[in-house]
Parts: sequence; structure tokens; C-alpha cells
Amino acid sequence: VFDVLIVGGGPAGAASAIYAARKGIKTGVLAERFGGQVLDTLAIENFVSIKETDGPKFAVALEQHVKEYEVDIMNTQRAVKLVPGKVAEVHTATGAVLKAKTVILSTGARWREINVPGEKEYRNHGVAYCPHCDGPLFKGKRVSVIGGGNSGVEAAIDLAGIVQHVTLIEFGTELRADAVLQRKLHSLPNVKVILSAQTTEIHGDGKKVNGLSYKDRNTNELHRVDLEGVFVQIGLVPNTEWLKGTVALSKHGEIEIDPRGQTSVPGVFAAGDVTTVPYKQIVIAVGEGAKAALSAFDHLIRSDDE
Ligand code: FAD
Repeated sequence: VFDVLIVGGGPAGAASAIYAARKGIKTGVLAERFGGQVLDTLAIENFVSIKETDGPKFAVALEQHVKEYEVDIMNTQRAVKLVPGKVAEVHTATGAVLKAKTVILSTGARWREINVPGEKEYRNHGVAYCPHCDGPLFKGKRVSVIGGGNSGVEAAIDLAGIVQHVTLIEFGTELRADAVLQRKLHSLPNVKVILSAQTTEIHGDGKKVNGLSYKDRNTNELHRVDLEGVFVQIGLVPNTEWLKGTVALSKHGEIEIDPRGQTSVPGVFAAGDVTTVPYKQIVIAVGEGAKAALSAFDHLIRSDDE
């Protein structure tokens, strides 16, 4: 029986593992892909104290740091079910059942993709998902933002201050962002909004993005925009499908946590992109992971009655 079983091996899970193991308690990490989203990232320039690194290097560093401690790492294993209880159970896709006194859920999230030709080919070569991360790479260039909800409009406002020009493309007949964001957006001289537009393809020269095509949904005409970057902002999907019905989730499917990382189920904590914590960033996931581990330890010392 683990004292702490962490499900998810991204930055949040790695931080939880280090903080838990440093308390001398029996700690395990179950991960489908140790490293998490960081493995899909090229440059990382905003992890405080590391001026510049890249995703794969950062993932190796995470794993090496965790391996400095006595942590049972179970990689390439997917959790499919959580059964809460005084001793909780985590069931894996291969049929194994792991038992733990406390569980930390850190299964992260994934960006929703638009699934058009060019998106996969040019991911990290002009196709981006995180304006906080990749915005500065497009300084002085032309970009588009796909999606006119809050995240798309926030991204367009954010990018307008860095890049030369932003074309915001919305599928529907109007933007869905809050009125205050829309007012701000419309006040910016270097932003153009195109409504009723369905992105059909992202173009490139074989190495980098150089344009985007969309269909005007009123006339069915195809148009091309020349640009260097495309930010896809049509939603972040938390990896919580396997948790429905066990812990309370927000309407977006994120695990609801209190300021200590406690979920609706006693002894079950959560951290990082999978939770309701605002702003999905590595430095934030790491802090949240540390916090959840300290909360799990606190829970253990208070309930150690056997
Ligand atoms: P994740 O990194 O998503 O890790 C989740 C972990 O859970 C993985 O190990 C996954 O395999 C595992 N998992 C999922 N489901 C299951 C399951 N059912 N069973 C077992 N394991 C499971 N942030 C920055 O701060 N700076 C950047 O420059 C930056 N660039 C980015 C670029 C890209 C392309 C992307 C996609 C993201 C970027 N981010 C960046 C965001 C950052 O990667 C995330 O905020 C961070 O990785 C969140 O960490 P996490 O541990 O919460 O989740």
C-alpha cells in the first residue's frame, strides 16, 4: 500500500513525487507518458531560474530529479478507474490494482486541435497553442488566432502587443468572449476579426508556416491569409474522462480543488493543468504539485490512527 500514489508524471506529478518522497513516505507515480506535455514543447523560456531549455531536456531533468529519491515510477501505464476509500484503489488499463492511503491526481490536459491539414505537420513550426509560452517567438511577425471565445480573444489581445498583426478567426457569427474583452480587442489597431470563417488548411513551405486558408461560411468562398504563425485557441481538455462520477468536476471537466489541493473526496488531492487552478503553466503546475504533496502528508499524519 502506497502512502501517496500520484497519477500523472508531468511537472505537477514530478513535483508531488519529490515533495512526498522527501517526507520519507512510500511514494509511487503512475504515468502514461512520464514528462507530460513538456515532451511536445520546443523552447521553454519562462521556467523561472532557467533562462532557456527545451521540452525533452526538461522532461529528462524532471525524471532524473525524481529518481534521486525512493519513488516507484510506473511509466507507460494508464489509470482507468479510481475507487475512493480509506485505502483507495487505482485500476490500470492492464488490469492491475494499486492501493494507496492518499492519491494525487495530476493527469494534465491537452489542447483541442482543429484537425485540418498542416496542423500536425507544422506543430512547433508556426502552429502554437500557448500564447504565454510562444508569443515572443513571433515578435514583429503576422499571426492568426483561431477561436473567438475568452481564450482566443485574450490571446489576440496579448499577441497584439508583441506581433505585427493578428487575424482572429471565429467559426460562428459572433465572438463568444466577455464584452469587456471584445471592447478591448476592437480598440486595437493591429487586429482584424473575421467571423463565420472555417479554417480549412494551414500552409507552409515544408519547414515553417506561411499561410492559412479559410472558407467564408456565408458565401462558401475560400480565402488565404499570409502569415507566420497560427495560435489554436479552441479549448483545453482536462484528462478527467476516467474520473467522472468519483471526484467533483467543473463544467469544463476540471477537477475542483480547494486552496490546499484537496478534491471533493477526502484523501484525494489534485494538482496542475487537470484542476480548476487558473493559468496552465509549468511553473504553476510544479508549485501546485508540491502543495498537493504537502497536503497529502498533512492528511496522513492527521489520520494515522491504525
Ligand atoms: P501534463 O504535463 O499534461 O502531464 C500529465 C501527465 O499525466 C502525463 O504524464 C500524462 O501521460 C499523464 N496521464 C494523463 N492521463 C493519464 C491516465 N489516465 N493515467 C496515467 N497517466 C495519465 N508551459 C510553460 O510554462 N512554458 C512553456 O513554454 C510551455 N510551452 C508549451 C508548449 C506546448 C506545445 C504545450 C502543449 C504546452 C506548453 N506549456 C508550457 C504548458 C505546460 O506544458 C503545462 O502547463 C504543464 O505540462 C502542466 O503540467 P501537468 O503536470 O499538470 O500536466
